[in-house]
Amino acid sequence: MSQKNKATIAVRKGIDADKHHGAVVPPLHLSTTYSFADFDTKRQYDYGRSGNPNRDILAETLAELEGGEKGIITATGMAAVHLATQLLNSNDTLVIPHDCYGGSYRLFTSLEKRGLLKLVVLDLTKVENHQKILEIKPKLIWIETPSNPILRLTDIKAITTIAKQCGALVGADNTFLSPALQNPIEFGVDIVVHSTTKYINGHSDVVGGAVIAANQALGDELAWWANNIGITGAPFDSYLTLRGLRTLNVRLRQHQENAFVIAQYLESSPYVSQVYYPGLESHPQHELAKQQQRGFGGMVSFDIKGDVNDAAAFLTSLEEFSLAESLGGVESLICHPATMTHAGMDATARLEAGVGDTLIRISVGIEDVKDLIADLDRVFDKVKPGQGQRLEASKKVVQQEQQSEPTSSFKLTPAHTALW
Ligand code: PLP
Repeated sequence: MSQKNKATIAVRKGIDADKHHGAVVPPLHLSTTYSFADFDTKRQYDYGRSGNPNRDILAETLAELEGGEKGIITATGMAAVHLATQLLNSNDTLVIPHDCYGGSYRLFTSLEKRGLLKLVVLDLTKVENHQKILEIKPKLIWIETPSNPILRLTDIKAITTIAKQCGALVGADNTFLSPALQNPIEFGVDIVVHSTTKYINGHSDVVGGAVIAANQALGDELAWWANNIGITGAPFDSYLTLRGLRTLNVRLRQHQENAFVIAQYLESSPYVSQVYYPGLESHPQHELAKQQQRGFGGMVSFDIKGDVNDAAAFLTSLEEFSLAESLGGVESLICHPATMTHAGMDATARLEAGVGDTLIRISVGIEDVKDLIADLDRVFDKVKPGQGQRLEASKKVVQQEQQSEPTSSFKLTPAHTALW
């Protein structure tokens, strides 16, 4: 593995590689086909689905950042998740966490229904469930840590230790932290998956995915499948994603600094019943987060007091947070997982995963956090969640009380503002 630091790898990989014109930034290669050098003599590339220079630079950069031997760039994050399942035959068992991303859950359960694999769903955050894996003897164990949306952690080392005992592979969805903050391969994971749509691209303008294999043989098998089923990423998407990746480290630093301030603000709010953020000491796995992560990330979830109507009134009154799916862009997004990102799960499974009607998820952006807090404060004060008022009623109250003091007791302290 490279001795360089991750921020340097992210910025420098592929720079000055153009021998022909000396372009500093890797040029964009849109051609779908490449001429043969001679009869039966292929050049490095022949056809765009099988190989492309922009895709390759992105794949090599991500592989190096994750500490793997081979990267494969896919058209979407779901294509990357699907690619990992190509390692399974119909008699093989896949163990998945009960609270993984709703789209992954829907894919895994659909493949099981068609008899393409056997599936066991477990709460992998509970150490007592890890022993069950030894009896199940799966081919692949899937983990997602921190999980989407309530940021539960799975002990990566504990899972890979069990996996070794029963000969299973471990795949980890590292979308929520990105290689800037967590490297599952360091803890023995075999495949890392990303929705590059999120932090890796970071600008909410490309949908993409990546699979990084810890070893070459596994990587070659997955690359063969990616070409075979035709899910490789587009050149321009790869170009843009690499451009986003250049600033991953600085973006993540600001995302998590803002997220920490917002998590503390929410924890002190009378309108919030629970906050989920691994950076808070109140998070049940705060110590594990410190062991296996290099930061706590930019995602914060919380349960608002009241019911779904309070959640709806709150979500539709904000100005600095867009009500939208996805995460990891520079702009703050907010969503209601039960009706948005996790709507694909059946209600029982969703509730078991902790995704109730009052759960709200924030992808904290890199704006000035003072503006974000001011917006949250204004809307809490207007909607007064949990106090039986609905939006229409709240609007009138707000008009009457426009001049009055906000109810929040949260104050930005020097510690919050130190790095601004
Ligand atoms: N994995 C996680 C954790 C996600 O949050 C998502 C999308 O939200 C995906 C995978 C799927 O990625 P994509 O939407 O790029 O297909």
